[in-house]
Amino acid sequence: MSKNLFDLTGKVALITGGNSGIGLGFAEGVAKQGADVCVWGRNLEKNAAVVEKLGEFGSKVHAVCCDVSDEAAVEKSFAETLEVFGRVDGCFANSGVAKSGRFEEFSTEDWRHVMDVNLDGLFYTLRCAAKHMKQRAEAGDPGGRLIGTSSLGALMGMARVEAYGASKGAVISMMQALAVEYARWGVTANSILPGHIETAMTKDNYANEKFANAILPRIPARRWGDRSDFEGIAAYLMSDASRYHTGDSLLIDGGFFLY
Ligand code: NAP
Repeated sequence: MSKNLFDLTGKVALITGGNSGIGLGFAEGVAKQGADVCVWGRNLEKNAAVVEKLGEFGSKVHAVCCDVSDEAAVEKSFAETLEVFGRVDGCFANSGVAKSGRFEEFSTEDWRHVMDVNLDGLFYTLRCAAKHMKQRAEAGDPGGRLIGTSSLGALMGMARVEAYGASKGAVISMMQALAVEYARWGVTANSILPGHIETAMTKDNYANEKFANAILPRIPARRWGDRSDFEGIAAYLMSDASRYHTGDSLLIDGGFFLY
């Protein structure tokens, strides 16, 4: 293992939903440690902004316009990623959407949309990455990191977000199975479970005084998380230091779940 445990020079990270929020935190964390980064997202403006931002760290950065719920688009985008970078060492399947509403009124359309992005999208993405990492291992270059963004919503009974919670629970199960299936090729698979993190997805809720007054006092760290809280875990999981750490579900929540 290298002297600098978290040196990512020469490694390539692929981060879906890396143009904003938690995914951008992952991207900044690995770029600061020298990794090259490929970001996937649908919004061209956010994609362009992230290329400029990550460029500051001296990494090679490329953004791909990809809707992860579109299987063909994911296959095409993964091929483009390999064309640009030659390899993928760590794949963060992080794109996600949330829909809330009373369960008995929740539409099938909204249920499908949440599953299409949060679960099917993660499956399409990680399938490409796992195949690539296994092929590389069989060619004498083992290793690889599969990371799925789950949520505390997978563990806690969060009323009115049943579809979201179900999709995120499935992420944990999938990462555990991948950990077992791909260990022989030196590939690890882990889930990250963010708590209450201030991003585009949550900012309206947090601006609501009633919501903030109910939740904030229950966070032992006494603040919402922000994207910078995800830099360290991304660098660790991409690094050789985490090579024997697999099948885990890592809470990044300021102590919320325990309290
Ligand atoms: P965010 O800032 O809204 O980021 C969501 C990201 O997903 C964006 O980059 C978005 O990019 C991308 N995305 C959405 N739909 C997509 C699609 N169909 N195809 C490709 N990319 C898509 O929210 P965030 O809070 O950082 O969320 C990131 C992940 O963390 C999600 O999986 C979320 O469920 C999870 N999470 C968040 C919290 C929290 O408190 N914030 C807690 C637990 C888990 P484009 O719009 O450009 O497509």
